[in-house]
Amino acid sequence: MVAAQNSALFLKLPSTDELLRRPELRTLADREGHAAVAASARSVLARLRQEIAAKRLDEKALDLALGGIVAAVEFQLRQSLSHSLCPVINATGVILHTNLGRAPLASSVLEHIGETAATYSNLEFDLATGERGKRDVHVGRLFQKLLDGGISTEQVGTDASVRPEVRSAATVSTIVVNNNAAAVLLALNSLAEGGEVIVSRGELVEIGGSFRIPDVMSKSQATLREVGTTNRTRIADYERAITERTRLLLRVHRSNFEISGFTEQPALEELVALAQRRHLPLMEDLGSGALFDLRSVGITGEPGVLDSLRIGVDVVTYSGDKLLGGPQAGMISGRADLVARMRSNSLFRALRVDKLTYAALEATLLAYVKHDHDAIPVLRMMRLSKAEIARRAEDLVAGVRSRKLKVELMDGESVIGGGAAPSTVLPTRLMALTHAEHSADGLCDRLRASIPPIIARVEEGRVLVDLRTVFPEQDQALVTALASID
Ligand SMILES: *Cc1c(COP(=O)(O)O)cnc(C)c1O
Repeated sequence: MVAAQNSALFLKLPSTDELLRRPELRTLADREGHAAVAASARSVLARLRQEIAAKRLDEKALDLALGGIVAAVEFQLRQSLSHSLCPVINATGVILHTNLGRAPLASSVLEHIGETAATYSNLEFDLATGERGKRDVHVGRLFQKLLDGGISTEQVGTDASVRPEVRSAATVSTIVVNNNAAAVLLALNSLAEGGEVIVSRGELVEIGGSFRIPDVMSKSQATLREVGTTNRTRIADYERAITERTRLLLRVHRSNFEISGFTEQPALEELVALAQRRHLPLMEDLGSGALFDLRSVGITGEPGVLDSLRIGVDVVTYSGDKLLGGPQAGMISGRADLVARMRSNSLFRALRVDKLTYAALEATLLAYVKHDHDAIPVLRMMRLSKAEIARRAEDLVAGVRSRKLKVELMDGESVIGGGAAPSTVLPTRLMALTHAEHSADGLCDRLRASIPPIIARVEEGRVLVDLRTVFPEQDQALVTALASID
């Protein structure tokens, strides 16, 4: 009986062809293409068939659905043709928010991506000779300027601990791969395959997204040789672990956590001295890799790329989209002979980056060369003063007129995020939102549903909005979204 009823319902469904012959859908197909409209029609019909089979539709409900079938196809088409990846307003105050795409790019970067991506380029073509070129030359010269320049002009002759081979100009070379995880993998495999790498137990970190040092080590075919304890490792621990199988000493920046209390870790200078004495390379996975002086924004204790190279670390690895403020990429900078071994490793070919990344990186580095730090959004956000943020927040509060939404201003803290400077906070002025009818979570959901979505955080029953990470151009959209919550 039920089966018979069901088959009667199935018979009411039009075929895809019948549906596509409807005048509204023909017009739609002229505009959006037949294939896309046909796919949407098929998916709407498939859904109805499923509903009937699951006995979730009786005859009346099916008639209703069929009455709205053209609208359903149109809706399905809009959904399938809209972007899934979309801009959001980051009101969390976390500058390098991994879930929100880490570093937004500078406008000069977008221009350079646009102009080189829309046409052919000299990606691997030497315009001077007309012969095949290398893709890394485009950023290589800029890294050299930033790193060699920094080392030689500021340090040579003043610091005896700087190693001669790193000190002389044109010896620090840099290669670029897909991200820092790939950089670590390539470096370990190139320098230590089949041998041992000595790492402190206090640095066997997991960065999130399943990047774990022991796992990357085993994938690189190098053997991890742990030394010391979680909280204390001394230089003698490294020294004792060195054997004829040792290929590399590795220091990993702890990034997203701190060890405090009864702790000990050798200074980088001690590791450099040990590596030199034992003729072993020393590599440091910096993680965030700042190319500017973080002390200028009040961040101490976070090593910069230049700091490590100056002290004499042979190879450093770092991300492009953390403190550098550029595209997702992983950089390996250091002694030219070691970097050359990585360049000739076939893994390098597998991990290489595309022209969009090179274009983005080149334009980002150019801003550093020109000392135009404010052009780089994450650096600009880091340098925003609390007073500037407070001024914008006051303007915004004045713009929101709602009987039910209460907006108060309060002092708070922004963070760098992305595993950089975990203990550093930047003082900020927050907008704290409460609503007469909605809970803080409900309010957060509503903000997330606005267009563009607004991502904020909830703390002690309030929604907190930090303008440090909101672009001033987005302030108006924020006011509009807040004012329209009822
Ligand atoms: C972030 C980080 C990584 C991973 O870098 P990705 O560019 O995200 O691959 C590796 N090591 C350290 C120490 C980090 O902080």
